[in-house]
Amino acid sequence: MENITLTAIEDINLTFQTDLYKYNEILNAGFILHGHICPAMPLGLRAALEALSRLGIPRARNKELHLIVENGPAHAALCFAEGVQLGTSATFGKDMVTRTNEGKSAFTLIDKKTGRSIRVSMNYDFFDNTMKSEFVNKRREGLEPHEIDQRLPKQMIQNMLDTPIDNLLKFDEIKILDFPKINYTFNYYQCTSCQEPVYEPGIRVLDGEYVCINCSK
Ligand SMILES: [Zn+2]
Ligand SMILES: [Zn+2]
Repeated sequence: MENITLTAIEDINLTFQTDLYKYNEILNAGFILHGHICPAMPLGLRAALEALSRLGIPRARNKELHLIVENGPAHAALCFAEGVQLGTSATFGKDMVTRTNEGKSAFTLIDKKTGRSIRVSMNYDFFDNTMKSEFVNKRREGLEPHEIDQRLPKQMIQNMLDTPIDNLLKFDEIKILDFPKINYTFNYYQCTSCQEPVYEPGIRVLDGEYVCINCSK
């Protein structure tokens, strides 16, 4: 089985391998972040790495990228978006993710510097087969991912890794999107009421005093 070393992640010495059972640092990091072993997170990871590769750009070091994630609300396999964050390093924590709640396992990855973007969505037949799998049936019955025989998700992940990516996902043409420039501030104050540190965008003026949003109510 061929190992895929993606140029996008060589920078930080991570390799994504197509054999689940070989040492696979980025996938393991994903399972640690994610909390359980499931097929949707690794699929998001693979989708993200391919999207980076098609855009010809590396994973984010800081805030160079933005993700528009169409997942949610309240459906199965929200885990997909977790793998997309892991693959791109465009994370919730760095304010690089917008969730549109359109009920699709799909996302657009934007290179903020150039505006070049690619949208990735799910191949319907692959999606349909996955949703009829034993693993998903057990989830439907109410079992949590970690309560299901772990051989099931692991086999699904390996099958997914063995499948050509175009049978799993649809990659749209690269488009230019205008992404608003945001200046992130280092300026902060101490709230005169609760004494907590608060960055400038969270400061309100109440009776001439600088207070946080919560203390301003
Ligand atoms: Zn999951
Ligand atoms: Zn306060």
